[in-house]
Amino acid sequence: MIIRRKTRSIQVGKVAVGGNSTISVQSMTNTDTKNVQQTVAQICRLQEAGCDIVRVAVLDLEAAAAIRAIQEKISIPLIADIHFDSRLAVAAMESGADGIRINPGNLGGEEKVALVVAAAKQHRIPIRVGVNSGSIEKDLLKKHGYPTPENSAALIESAMRNVRLLEKHGYHEIKISIKSSDVLTTINSYQRLSKTTDYPLHLGVTEAGGLIAGTVKSSVALGILLSQGIGDTFRISLTRDPVEEVRVGFELLRSLKIRERGPELISCPTCGRTRIDLFTLAEEVERFVQTMESPLKVAVMGCIVNGPGEARQADIGIAGGNGVGIIFKKGEIWRKVPENELLEIFLAELKKMDDEGQKERNSAHLDKREGRREPF
Ligand code: SF4
Repeated sequence: MIIRRKTRSIQVGKVAVGGNSTISVQSMTNTDTKNVQQTVAQICRLQEAGCDIVRVAVLDLEAAAAIRAIQEKISIPLIADIHFDSRLAVAAMESGADGIRINPGNLGGEEKVALVVAAAKQHRIPIRVGVNSGSIEKDLLKKHGYPTPENSAALIESAMRNVRLLEKHGYHEIKISIKSSDVLTTINSYQRLSKTTDYPLHLGVTEAGGLIAGTVKSSVALGILLSQGIGDTFRISLTRDPVEEVRVGFELLRSLKIRERGPELISCPTCGRTRIDLFTLAEEVERFVQTMESPLKVAVMGCIVNGPGEARQADIGIAGGNGVGIIFKKGEIWRKVPENELLEIFLAELKKMDDEGQKERNSAHLDKREGRREPF
Protein backbone atom coordinates (compact mmCIF):
# COMPACT_ATOMS: atom_id res chain seq x y z
CA MET A 1 0.00 0.00 0.00
CA ILE A 2 1.27 3.45 -0.87
CA ILE A 3 1.45 5.84 2.08
CA ARG A 4 1.21 9.35 0.73
CA ARG A 5 3.61 11.90 2.14
CA LYS A 6 1.79 14.67 3.98
CA THR A 7 1.80 18.00 2.18
CA ARG A 8 -0.07 21.27 2.47
CA SER A 9 -2.98 21.73 0.15
CA ILE A 10 -3.22 24.58 -2.33
CA GLN A 11 -6.00 25.43 -4.76
CA VAL A 12 -5.37 25.72 -8.50
CA GLY A 13 -8.74 27.00 -9.68
CA LYS A 14 -11.23 24.25 -8.87
CA VAL A 15 -8.50 21.60 -8.47
CA ALA A 16 -6.86 21.04 -5.08
CA VAL A 17 -3.20 20.03 -5.16
CA GLY A 18 -1.51 18.41 -2.16
CA GLY A 19 -2.98 17.33 1.15
CA ASN A 20 -5.43 14.47 0.63
CA SER A 21 -6.43 15.58 -2.84
CA THR A 22 -6.34 13.29 -5.85
CA ILE A 23 -3.00 13.25 -7.67
CA SER A 24 -3.66 15.46 -10.68
CA VAL A 25 -2.47 14.95 -14.25
CA GLN A 26 -1.21 18.00 -16.09
CA SER A 27 -0.14 18.80 -19.62
CA MET A 28 1.03 21.81 -21.56
CA THR A 29 -0.23 23.14 -24.87
CA ASN A 30 2.17 23.49 -27.79
CA THR A 31 0.10 26.02 -29.73
CA ASP A 32 0.86 29.72 -29.91
CA THR A 33 -1.12 30.97 -26.89
CA LYS A 34 -2.06 34.12 -28.84
CA ASN A 35 -3.99 31.89 -31.21
CA VAL A 36 -7.05 31.47 -29.00
CA GLN A 37 -8.93 29.17 -31.37
CA GLN A 38 -6.09 26.66 -31.73
CA THR A 39 -5.21 26.78 -28.06
CA VAL A 40 -8.82 26.24 -26.97
CA ALA A 41 -9.17 23.35 -29.45
CA GLN A 42 -6.10 21.66 -28.01
CA ILE A 43 -7.20 22.23 -24.40
CA CYS A 44 -10.63 20.74 -25.22
CA ARG A 45 -8.90 17.60 -26.52
CA LEU A 46 -6.82 17.50 -23.34
CA GLN A 47 -9.97 17.87 -21.21
CA GLU A 48 -11.58 14.97 -23.05
CA ALA A 49 -8.51 12.84 -22.35
CA GLY A 50 -8.93 13.63 -18.62
CA CYS A 51 -6.30 16.35 -18.14
CA ASP A 52 -6.87 18.04 -14.76
CA ILE A 53 -4.75 21.18 -15.19
CA VAL A 54 -3.30 22.74 -18.33
CA ARG A 55 -0.33 25.05 -18.73
CA VAL A 56 0.23 27.53 -21.53
CA ALA A 57 3.42 29.40 -22.44
CA VAL A 58 3.15 33.18 -22.06
CA LEU A 59 5.81 34.83 -24.16
CA ASP A 60 4.43 38.33 -24.43
CA LEU A 61 1.64 40.64 -23.28
CA GLU A 62 -0.61 39.59 -26.15
CA ALA A 63 -0.38 35.97 -25.01
CA ALA A 64 -1.12 37.04 -21.42
CA ALA A 65 -4.21 38.92 -22.61
CA ALA A 66 -5.39 35.90 -24.64
CA ILE A 67 -5.83 33.94 -21.39
CA ARG A 68 -9.12 35.69 -20.71
CA ALA A 69 -10.68 34.54 -24.01
CA ILE A 70 -9.24 31.03 -23.58
CA GLN A 71 -10.61 30.74 -20.04
CA GLU A 72 -14.13 31.49 -21.25
CA LYS A 73 -14.14 28.36 -23.41
CA ILE A 74 -12.43 25.76 -21.23
CA SER A 75 -13.40 24.05 -17.99
CA ILE A 76 -10.07 23.03 -16.42
CA PRO A 77 -7.69 25.34 -14.52
CA LEU A 78 -5.09 27.13 -16.60
CA ILE A 79 -1.55 27.92 -15.48
CA ALA A 80 0.59 30.55 -17.19
CA ASP A 81 4.22 29.55 -17.73
CA ILE A 82 6.48 32.57 -17.51
CA HIS A 83 10.19 33.21 -17.66
CA PHE A 84 12.17 36.37 -16.90
CA ASP A 85 9.41 38.97 -17.21
CA SER A 86 7.44 39.92 -14.09
CA ARG A 87 5.06 42.08 -16.18
CA LEU A 88 3.87 38.96 -17.99
CA ALA A 89 3.22 37.19 -14.68
CA VAL A 90 1.14 40.10 -13.42
CA ALA A 91 -0.70 40.43 -16.75
CA ALA A 92 -1.47 36.69 -16.86
CA MET A 93 -2.99 36.86 -13.38
CA GLU A 94 -5.03 39.90 -14.32
CA SER A 95 -6.32 37.97 -17.35
CA GLY A 96 -7.65 35.20 -15.15
CA ALA A 97 -4.90 32.54 -14.97
CA ASP A 98 -5.54 30.06 -12.14
CA GLY A 99 -1.85 29.73 -11.38
CA ILE A 100 1.56 30.79 -12.60
CA ARG A 101 4.78 28.89 -13.03
CA ILE A 102 7.87 31.01 -12.54
CA ASN A 103 11.43 30.81 -11.38
CA PRO A 104 11.45 33.83 -9.01
CA GLY A 105 15.25 34.04 -9.26
CA ASN A 106 15.14 34.94 -12.94
CA LEU A 107 12.51 37.70 -12.70
CA GLY A 108 15.15 40.43 -12.38
CA GLY A 109 15.37 41.21 -8.68
CA GLU A 110 13.42 41.25 -5.46
CA GLU A 111 11.30 44.28 -6.37
CA LYS A 112 9.91 42.37 -9.33
CA VAL A 113 9.23 39.34 -7.16
CA ALA A 114 7.35 41.62 -4.72
CA LEU A 115 5.14 42.88 -7.58
CA VAL A 116 4.33 39.34 -8.67
CA VAL A 117 3.55 38.24 -5.11
CA ALA A 118 1.29 41.27 -4.60
CA ALA A 119 -0.70 40.31 -7.72
CA ALA A 120 -0.83 36.65 -6.65
CA LYS A 121 -2.19 37.69 -3.24
CA GLN A 122 -4.76 39.99 -4.83
CA HIS A 123 -6.01 37.34 -7.25
CA ARG A 124 -5.50 34.44 -4.80
CA ILE A 125 -3.40 32.52 -7.26
CA PRO A 126 -0.81 29.85 -6.40
CA ILE A 127 2.73 29.99 -7.70
CA ARG A 128 4.76 27.02 -8.87
CA VAL A 129 8.44 27.50 -8.22
CA GLY A 130 9.92 25.61 -11.14
CA VAL A 131 13.64 24.94 -11.10
CA ASN A 132 15.42 22.92 -13.79
CA SER A 133 18.95 21.50 -13.76
CA GLY A 134 19.72 23.82 -16.66
CA SER A 135 18.58 26.99 -14.89
CA ILE A 136 20.40 26.79 -11.55
CA GLU A 137 22.09 29.98 -10.32
CA LYS A 138 25.83 30.19 -11.01
CA ASP A 139 26.81 30.58 -7.35
CA LEU A 140 24.98 27.36 -6.45
CA LEU A 141 26.58 25.46 -9.30
CA LYS A 142 29.96 26.69 -8.05
CA LYS A 143 29.14 25.66 -4.50
CA HIS A 144 27.58 22.23 -5.18
CA GLY A 145 28.44 21.33 -8.77
CA TYR A 146 25.96 20.33 -11.50
CA PRO A 147 23.21 18.02 -10.20
CA THR A 148 23.95 14.31 -10.44
CA PRO A 149 22.23 11.21 -9.06
CA GLU A 150 24.58 11.36 -6.07
CA ASN A 151 24.45 15.10 -5.52
CA SER A 152 21.26 17.07 -6.05
CA ALA A 153 22.17 19.81 -3.53
CA ALA A 154 22.25 22.60 -6.14
CA LEU A 155 18.70 21.84 -7.31
CA ILE A 156 17.35 21.64 -3.77
CA GLU A 157 19.05 24.82 -2.62
CA SER A 158 17.97 26.70 -5.73
CA ALA A 159 14.34 25.67 -5.24
CA MET A 160 14.34 26.48 -1.53
CA ARG A 161 16.09 29.81 -2.09
CA ASN A 162 13.28 30.77 -4.46
CA VAL A 163 10.65 29.51 -2.04
CA ARG A 164 12.18 31.55 0.80
CA LEU A 165 12.05 34.61 -1.42
CA LEU A 166 8.28 34.19 -1.83
CA GLU A 167 7.86 33.44 1.88
CA LYS A 168 9.80 36.59 2.73
CA HIS A 169 7.06 38.50 0.96
CA GLY A 170 4.40 36.67 2.92
CA TYR A 171 3.40 34.14 0.29
CA HIS A 172 2.79 30.45 0.97
CA GLU A 173 0.45 29.27 -1.80
CA ILE A 174 3.33 27.43 -3.42
CA LYS A 175 4.13 24.16 -5.13
CA ILE A 176 7.59 23.15 -6.23
CA SER A 177 9.19 21.30 -9.12
CA ILE A 178 12.86 20.47 -9.53
CA LYS A 179 13.28 18.88 -12.89
CA SER A 180 16.19 17.14 -14.53
CA SER A 181 16.36 15.18 -17.77
CA ASP A 182 18.20 12.43 -15.89
CA VAL A 183 16.01 9.80 -14.24
CA LEU A 184 18.22 9.00 -11.26
CA THR A 185 18.88 12.69 -10.55
CA THR A 186 15.13 13.33 -10.65
CA ILE A 187 14.42 10.52 -8.19
CA ASN A 188 17.18 11.54 -5.79
CA SER A 189 16.26 15.24 -5.94
CA TYR A 190 12.57 14.76 -5.18
CA GLN A 191 13.32 12.24 -2.44
CA ARG A 192 15.54 14.79 -0.74
CA LEU A 193 13.19 17.70 -1.39
CA SER A 194 10.27 15.79 0.12
CA LYS A 195 12.25 15.58 3.39
CA THR A 196 13.04 19.30 3.26
CA THR A 197 9.60 20.84 2.80
CA ASP A 198 5.88 20.07 3.05
CA TYR A 199 4.85 22.20 0.08
CA PRO A 200 3.09 20.10 -2.59
CA LEU A 201 5.41 18.74 -5.26
CA HIS A 202 4.89 18.81 -9.02
CA LEU A 203 6.81 15.88 -10.52
CA GLY A 204 8.33 15.61 -13.96
CA VAL A 205 11.34 14.56 -15.99
CA THR A 206 12.18 17.47 -18.24
CA GLU A 207 12.99 17.00 -21.92
CA ALA A 208 12.24 13.30 -21.45
CA GLY A 209 12.09 12.54 -25.19
CA GLY A 210 9.66 11.03 -27.69
CA LEU A 211 6.83 8.60 -27.05
CA ILE A 212 8.90 5.54 -26.17
CA ALA A 213 11.95 7.06 -24.43
CA GLY A 214 9.87 9.75 -22.75
CA THR A 215 7.27 7.29 -21.48
CA VAL A 216 9.93 4.94 -20.11
CA LYS A 217 12.00 7.67 -18.44
CA SER A 218 8.98 9.42 -16.93
CA SER A 219 7.36 6.18 -15.81
CA VAL A 220 10.51 4.94 -14.09
CA ALA A 221 11.20 8.21 -12.27
CA LEU A 222 7.60 9.14 -11.43
CA GLY A 223 6.60 5.53 -10.81
CA ILE A 224 9.29 5.15 -8.14
CA LEU A 225 8.47 8.49 -6.54
CA LEU A 226 4.70 8.00 -6.56
CA SER A 227 5.07 4.48 -5.17
CA GLN A 228 7.00 6.05 -2.28
CA GLY A 229 4.15 8.49 -1.70
CA ILE A 230 6.05 11.45 -3.16
CA GLY A 231 4.30 13.78 -5.59
CA ASP A 232 0.96 15.60 -5.65
CA THR A 233 0.65 16.45 -9.32
CA PHE A 234 2.72 15.71 -12.42
CA ARG A 235 3.25 16.12 -16.10
CA ILE A 236 4.67 13.45 -18.42
CA SER A 237 6.74 15.47 -20.92
CA LEU A 238 6.78 13.98 -24.40
CA THR A 239 7.88 15.31 -27.76
CA ARG A 240 4.43 14.44 -29.01
CA ASP A 241 0.78 15.48 -29.10
CA PRO A 242 0.15 16.56 -25.47
CA VAL A 243 -2.93 14.31 -25.37
CA GLU A 244 -0.47 11.38 -25.29
CA GLU A 245 1.06 12.88 -22.13
CA VAL A 246 -2.30 12.65 -20.40
CA ARG A 247 -2.90 9.09 -21.59
CA VAL A 248 0.50 7.98 -20.33
CA GLY A 249 -0.15 9.82 -17.06
CA PHE A 250 -3.36 7.93 -16.40
CA GLU A 251 -1.81 4.59 -17.34
CA LEU A 252 0.96 5.32 -14.84
CA LEU A 253 -1.55 6.07 -12.08
CA ARG A 254 -3.57 2.99 -13.00
CA SER A 255 -0.50 0.74 -12.91
CA LEU A 256 0.14 1.88 -9.32
CA LYS A 257 -3.54 1.53 -8.44
CA ILE A 258 -3.64 5.21 -7.49
CA ARG A 259 -6.31 6.38 -9.89
CA GLU A 260 -8.35 4.94 -12.73
CA ARG A 261 -9.92 6.51 -15.76
CA GLY A 262 -11.62 4.61 -18.54
CA PRO A 263 -11.08 0.97 -19.45
CA GLU A 264 -7.97 -1.09 -18.87
CA LEU A 265 -6.84 -2.81 -22.06
CA ILE A 266 -4.94 -6.08 -21.90
CA SER A 267 -3.55 -7.41 -25.16
CA CYS A 268 -1.05 -10.16 -25.90
CA PRO A 269 2.17 -9.55 -27.86
CA THR A 270 1.15 -12.27 -30.43
CA CYS A 271 3.29 -15.27 -31.31
CA GLY A 272 3.41 -18.11 -33.83
CA ARG A 273 0.02 -19.34 -32.63
CA THR A 274 -1.80 -16.17 -33.72
CA ARG A 275 -4.10 -16.81 -36.69
CA ILE A 276 -5.90 -13.44 -36.90
CA ASP A 277 -4.69 -9.88 -37.59
CA LEU A 278 -4.35 -9.03 -33.92
CA PHE A 279 -2.21 -5.91 -34.36
CA THR A 280 -4.94 -4.11 -36.32
CA LEU A 281 -7.63 -5.41 -33.99
CA ALA A 282 -5.77 -4.31 -30.83
CA GLU A 283 -4.91 -0.93 -32.36
CA GLU A 284 -8.54 -0.22 -33.27
CA VAL A 285 -9.78 -1.37 -29.86
CA GLU A 286 -7.14 0.78 -28.15
CA ARG A 287 -8.25 3.79 -30.17
CA PHE A 288 -11.86 3.15 -29.25
CA VAL A 289 -11.37 2.59 -25.51
CA GLN A 290 -9.69 6.00 -25.27
CA THR A 291 -13.13 7.49 -25.94
CA MET A 292 -14.75 5.45 -23.15
CA GLU A 293 -15.19 6.39 -19.51
CA SER A 294 -16.31 3.17 -17.83
CA PRO A 295 -13.58 1.39 -15.86
CA LEU A 296 -13.99 -1.91 -17.73
CA LYS A 297 -11.32 -4.53 -18.19
CA VAL A 298 -11.00 -5.31 -21.91
CA ALA A 299 -8.85 -8.15 -23.28
CA VAL A 300 -7.66 -8.70 -26.85
CA MET A 301 -5.83 -12.02 -27.08
CA GLY A 302 -4.37 -13.80 -30.09
CA CYS A 303 -5.21 -17.45 -29.55
CA ILE A 304 -7.24 -20.04 -27.73
CA VAL A 305 -4.25 -21.32 -25.72
CA ASN A 306 -3.84 -18.44 -23.25
CA GLY A 307 -6.43 -16.12 -24.73
CA PRO A 308 -9.61 -17.52 -23.17
CA GLY A 309 -8.02 -17.46 -19.70
CA GLU A 310 -7.35 -13.72 -19.86
CA ALA A 311 -10.47 -12.95 -21.85
CA ARG A 312 -12.57 -14.73 -19.22
CA GLN A 313 -11.10 -12.53 -16.45
CA ALA A 314 -12.08 -9.41 -18.33
CA ASP A 315 -15.47 -7.72 -18.49
CA ILE A 316 -15.29 -8.31 -22.22
CA GLY A 317 -12.61 -9.95 -24.29
CA ILE A 318 -11.64 -11.59 -27.54
CA ALA A 319 -9.66 -14.79 -28.02
CA GLY A 320 -8.61 -15.19 -31.64
CA GLY A 321 -9.01 -18.47 -33.50
CA ASN A 322 -8.38 -19.49 -37.10
CA GLY A 323 -10.26 -16.82 -39.06
CA VAL A 324 -12.69 -16.37 -36.16
CA GLY A 325 -12.82 -14.64 -32.78
CA ILE A 326 -14.51 -15.86 -29.62
CA ILE A 327 -15.99 -13.01 -27.61
CA PHE A 328 -16.27 -13.51 -23.85
CA LYS A 329 -18.38 -11.44 -21.50
CA LYS A 330 -17.94 -11.68 -17.74
CA GLY A 331 -16.24 -15.04 -18.05
CA GLU A 332 -18.76 -16.68 -20.40
CA ILE A 333 -18.57 -17.27 -24.15
CA TRP A 334 -20.90 -14.71 -25.66
CA ARG A 335 -20.42 -15.15 -29.41
CA LYS A 336 -18.18 -16.77 -32.00
CA VAL A 337 -17.75 -14.31 -34.86
CA PRO A 338 -16.00 -14.49 -38.28
CA GLU A 339 -12.83 -12.36 -38.37
CA ASN A 340 -14.24 -9.91 -40.92
CA GLU A 341 -17.12 -8.99 -38.56
CA LEU A 342 -15.20 -9.23 -35.31
CA LEU A 343 -14.09 -5.62 -34.88
CA GLU A 344 -17.48 -4.11 -35.71
CA ILE A 345 -19.40 -6.41 -33.35
CA PHE A 346 -16.86 -6.05 -30.56
CA LEU A 347 -16.79 -2.23 -30.73
CA ALA A 348 -20.60 -2.06 -30.81
CA GLU A 349 -20.76 -4.18 -27.66
CA LEU A 350 -18.07 -2.04 -25.98
CA LYS A 351 -20.09 1.07 -26.78
CA LYS A 352 -23.22 -0.49 -25.33
CA MET A 353 -21.42 -1.46 -22.11
CA ASP A 354 -19.91 2.03 -21.81
CA ASP A 355 -23.34 3.66 -22.29
CA GLU A 356 -24.85 1.39 -19.63
CA GLY A 357 -21.98 2.23 -17.27
CA GLN A 358 -22.51 5.94 -17.93
CA LYS A 359 -26.23 5.61 -17.13
CA GLU A 360 -25.45 3.79 -13.86
CA ARG A 361 -22.90 6.45 -12.87
CA ASN A 362 -25.35 9.24 -13.66
CA SER A 363 -28.11 7.67 -11.59
CA ALA A 364 -25.69 6.96 -8.68
CA HIS A 365 -24.58 10.60 -8.85
CA LEU A 366 -28.20 11.75 -8.78
CA ASP A 367 -29.01 9.47 -5.82
CA LYS A 368 -26.02 10.87 -3.95
CA ARG A 369 -27.01 14.48 -4.65
CA GLU A 370 -30.60 13.88 -3.63
CA GLY A 371 -29.59 11.82 -0.60
CA ARG A 372 -31.64 8.82 -1.78
CA ARG A 373 -31.15 5.55 0.03
CA GLU A 374 -31.08 2.03 -1.27
CA PRO A 375 -34.53 0.39 -0.84
CA PHE A 376 -34.80 -1.93 2.19
S1 SF4 B 1 -2.27 -15.36 -26.09
FE1 SF4 B 1 -1.82 -16.93 -27.59
S2 SF4 B 1 -1.21 -15.78 -29.42
FE2 SF4 B 1 -1.08 -14.36 -27.72
S3 SF4 B 1 1.05 -14.53 -27.09
FE3 SF4 B 1 -0.13 -15.88 -25.78
S4 SF4 B 1 0.06 -17.87 -26.79
FE4 SF4 B 1 0.65 -16.33 -28.32
